[in-house]
Amino acid sequence: MVARGFPTCLLAFTIIYALLTIAIMGLLCSLIVSFVQDLHCECDVPLHIWVAVDLGSTAYHAIHGTVLQVCFSRDQDPLRPLRWHERLHLVVVAIFDFTWLGLGLYWLWSSKTCAQTASRLYKAAEIYAIASTVGNVFMCINMIGLYTIMCILMQNGVLRTKEGAPSGTLEKLQVVAFDEDAKLFKDNPECSICLAVFSKNSEVRQCHCAHIFHGRCLGNWLKVNRTCPLCRSDVTSTGTPLTGSAVVSETIGNSRSFQNERAAGGHHYPTH
Ligand SMILES: [Zn+2]
Ligand SMILES: [Zn+2]
Repeated sequence: MVARGFPTCLLAFTIIYALLTIAIMGLLCSLIVSFVQDLHCECDVPLHIWVAVDLGSTAYHAIHGTVLQVCFSRDQDPLRPLRWHERLHLVVVAIFDFTWLGLGLYWLWSSKTCAQTASRLYKAAEIYAIASTVGNVFMCINMIGLYTIMCILMQNGVLRTKEGAPSGTLEKLQVVAFDEDAKLFKDNPECSICLAVFSKNSEVRQCHCAHIFHGRCLGNWLKVNRTCPLCRSDVTSTGTPLTGSAVVSETIGNSRSFQNERAAGGHHYPTH
């Protein structure tokens, strides 16, 4: 249901975002003109500095956004998780933008003479600051919503990344018949992706490394990764399957570390 409604949500968000961007750009142009016109007019609050810094920040965003676009389109997957320094940069920039916007509104509304001495700049800055605040709040709410929907789609295997295995990889993996008395199922009673126990009702697939998972869970996983969730060996390579105690000890050890990793919330894993 979420997957079906997602394109409509994305389209609506894109249209609203485009309209907001056009409106903000118009107000920005008006602000620049007013800034130049009232450049030498007196003001009892540092409105000129506020506008200058805000224009500089907007120019920085435009340049940085262009650089990111070029980098992403060259060799990076846009769906890859952000690195720590990229997240830190986003957080610092967002905090600065909101703080500066708040400071601007405070100066505007606490000013006693600016509305008369630099009326054009004051009016343009006030409208721009209010519109930016509304736009930023709208963007934040929608970005959080979009991010949540993207995560749900990733977890359900609806989205595929470039790091995923080629189509048909799952079908090439061996189907293992469930047998609760078999050593394989006694040692590995549950699927390490969804943590549900294996049963006769669900298909079980075995990777070349001998690790077993629900077919559906593994299928979703392979849309995002091409490695075994437990031992990280390449699922698409046709190595000789491990057998005997080596499989069992490795599986148990890796299963524990994998589950610890899941509990820590380090990655988004597609589930059954
Ligand atoms: Zn599973
Ligand atoms: Zn494995």
